[in-house]
Amino acid sequence: MADKDFPLTGFSSAAVHAGHETDPRYAHLVPIYASSTYVFDTAEQGMNRFSGKEEGYIYSRWGNPTMNEAEQKIAALETFGLDIEVKGILHASGMAAIATLLLGTLKSGDKILTHFSLYGGTEELIHKVLPSLGISAVITDLRQMDKVENIIKKDPAIKMMYLETPANPTMQCVDIEELSGIAKRNNLIVSCDNTFATPYLQQPFKYGVDFIVHSTTKFLNGHGTAIGGILLGKDVEQMNNIITKTHRLLGGNANPFDAFLLINGIKTLELRMERHCSNAVEVANYLSTHLAVAKTNYAGLVSHPDYKIAKKQMKHPGAMCSFELKGGLQAGINFMNKLKMCVRTVSLGTCDTLLSHPASMTHYGIPKQQREQYGITDGMIRMNVGIENVEDIVRDLEQALK
Ligand code: PLP
Repeated sequence: MADKDFPLTGFSSAAVHAGHETDPRYAHLVPIYASSTYVFDTAEQGMNRFSGKEEGYIYSRWGNPTMNEAEQKIAALETFGLDIEVKGILHASGMAAIATLLLGTLKSGDKILTHFSLYGGTEELIHKVLPSLGISAVITDLRQMDKVENIIKKDPAIKMMYLETPANPTMQCVDIEELSGIAKRNNLIVSCDNTFATPYLQQPFKYGVDFIVHSTTKFLNGHGTAIGGILLGKDVEQMNNIITKTHRLLGGNANPFDAFLLINGIKTLELRMERHCSNAVEVANYLSTHLAVAKTNYAGLVSHPDYKIAKKQMKHPGAMCSFELKGGLQAGINFMNKLKMCVRTVSLGTCDTLLSHPASMTHYGIPKQQREQYGITDGMIRMNVGIENVEDIVRDLEQALK
């Protein structure tokens, strides 16, 4: 760990050093503490740990030194340069973190206000699981501010505004600062899924949100080696009480091996995101003028409807884009089959370029009409632009688009 009297002034320094504590046996890296439980010297010590009089680990579902380092590191990055303290709790997956957030803050009768373009898992959780607990959702276009405030004013059951920006797979962006302002004026909790942007590109706490969630599976890990998630909250007391309780009792805890992979992935976050984003700008520019492509969705293109919002709140417009092939479903399938270097797969956030075809893969089961309402057309391809040489990425796209 960098000395406490040596403040880290650069994001990359924090990504490398923040959260690390000198190991009692002087290991350079945090060891993988593969232990489910922790020993008490005496019964009194056990009692003091349980009562909270003494700090210390008890049981790994409740906390673990390797997992703790990842939590501290991500909390440091989400607050880098901001004068606030937050607490992070590492989870088994992004979905586990989202479940803790929603179940730890909402009760029967409450409603969530959210945007129509969201990660599919979150959408399903909101529509298929929460209603049986009496929690429901109001879906709108969160870019239409007047409408948003009216909806909230008319419906006192709305307790949370849930943002995801940029959103999957349309790359739509919502204005975190304006929406947080509306949420606060109306006493709503506001939370943001920051998975696509990462704290290097966007810091939602700066704009007033209460909670941030991440699927750490993606750019934070960076190499596709582990599933994980984190929930971070600004109200540390609430985090230490009801949110910690919810997390522990739902049992969606992370594990030390995946936390170790995550910690080492985060160390290169700034370098990777710089390269991901500069490659993505070139790829989006290339696609946007290609004759076989009807439309390119990238928040860094002036033609994107949310270009200004992305420019306001993001350092760079990210590594994710999507595009629509003119030939529809079959064109999408043919294109995917022709790729030679870029990888045919779902997920995102890895060093390698990944492409998926939602109509034949992730959104296969959703009726075409419903899919298209959310902008997911038959010919849409979603792309995680990797960190390879951009010439190779474009060459592969070129030959597959022929
Ligand atoms: N949020 C976003 C934006 C995602 O893209 C995903 C997964 O793709 C999740 C949350 C869920 O994360 P996980 O798969 O780690 O549970």
